[in-house]
Amino acid sequence: MTASAPSQASAPDAEYRTLLGHTLNCAACRAGSACPTVVRLGRAWRETRGPAREARGPAREARR
Ligand SMILES: [Zn+2]
Repeated sequence: MTASAPSQASAPDAEYRTLLGHTLNCAACRAGSACPTVVRLGRAWRETRGPAREARGPAREARR
């Protein structure tokens, strides 16, 4: 048994860590307020995760 080490996606994990770290340290985020910084970090994380997913967004809606 080995400890779960997500080494498959280190880049997205790093972005997510930054995003999480911010939400934990930002008063606005903790209060649930709109924070431009978290939006930026979230975008960066999404882009790192996979830009192909965004292209699938509108295609899915068209299918509906
Ligand atoms: Zn924030």
